[in-house]
Amino acid sequence: MQATTQLLHSIPVDAQTGAIAVPIYQTSTFVQEAPGVNKGYDYSRTNNPTRATLEQIVAELENGATGAAFSSGLAAIDAVIKLLESGDHIIAVDDIYGGAFRLFDKVYKKFGISVSYVDTSDLDAIAAAIQDSTRLIWLETPTNPTLKISDIKAIAALAKENNILLCVDNTFASPALQKPLDLGADIVVHSGTKYIGGHSDVIAGLVVTKTKELGSQVKFYQNACGAVLSPFDSFLLIRGLETLHLRIKQHCRNAASIAGFLAQHPLVDKVYYPGLSSHPNHATAKAQQEDFGGVVSFSLKTDTIEAATAFVTATRFFHLAESLGGVKSLVSHPASMTHKSIDEWRRKAAGVSDSLIRLSVGLEDASDLISDIDTALALVAATHSSSVTI
Ligand SMILES: *Cc1c(COP(=O)(O)O)cnc(C)c1O
Repeated sequence: MQATTQLLHSIPVDAQTGAIAVPIYQTSTFVQEAPGVNKGYDYSRTNNPTRATLEQIVAELENGATGAAFSSGLAAIDAVIKLLESGDHIIAVDDIYGGAFRLFDKVYKKFGISVSYVDTSDLDAIAAAIQDSTRLIWLETPTNPTLKISDIKAIAALAKENNILLCVDNTFASPALQKPLDLGADIVVHSGTKYIGGHSDVIAGLVVTKTKELGSQVKFYQNACGAVLSPFDSFLLIRGLETLHLRIKQHCRNAASIAGFLAQHPLVDKVYYPGLSSHPNHATAKAQQEDFGGVVSFSLKTDTIEAATAFVTATRFFHLAESLGGVKSLVSHPASMTHKSIDEWRRKAAGVSDSLIRLSVGLEDASDLISDIDTALALVAATHSSSVTI
């Protein structure tokens, strides 16, 4: 069976009514026949039928044993870190999502959990960072915003050898393009806010574990700490999932066209897209992903914050906003938005130059998106370029 058919038919028809859409069980509690005698549900923080359906669908989609849905991607990440104990050590991708860095650095550090940030596209660098107390390797691949790729299979083997858990934040690829559990990871997390929700209308997070044992630990923390996804938001994610493969196919197609256009544009310096053969990790991306995703980053030859600002305020179809993965295209300027709080040297070392621009390529027609970019670049040239003429 093909992936889309499998996904669509993993969404159950309601047994009680025959409803083809998953019902929203907007209820806090469930009536019991006698104390402890119920129909499988007692209180919606612990379990809710709409959320349970979403969790089952996502577990199947990622080929895992257990799914857990949270009220944000960060709550999902938080639940995974709670598997650790004081004194434990994490090896994390250096290009990590800013919110995850803040959680590690400002919250878990004070509880005695330490983190080494490593270029995880370099296996030797990971091996060198392993300590006796290392319990978890934290990957994002592709990363934000420079779309660096790490070899999940090789890192999973290294993790297993050293009895370390491997968790992959699969937000940028989505399960339509990459299945970390099949490549040896123990845990997958998602910001469901992005491609899984897909319509920029919900904040959500997901955890899927390879084993039932890990799953029941995550479920314990989900209930104990309480950052659960609401029934309505669970419904929105299920509805988003119905078109996941279709949307991702078009996101990838549009992004590839745009990356190709940018790569030959005289005002553009570097283009970051794993689908370009010039991308340093192109071969790894090709081996572990079905396609190369919907995010494209690029820098300008005029490498200034002013030139980038001129671009991001000139586009018509790319709205200036944080986030990614929705049907409408978005543009962002990491140096003055998501990465603003990071020290300038650290930001630049991570490849986030002053003019780096990130596009979340949506589902508009590629020709309209390209002419929008072309027009905005021409405006930058007219106002901010001293040395380059077109
Ligand atoms: C957005 C994002 C998160 C955080 O998700 P929220 O739903 O915003 O809490 C985590 N990881 C990555 C890669 C993201 O892009």
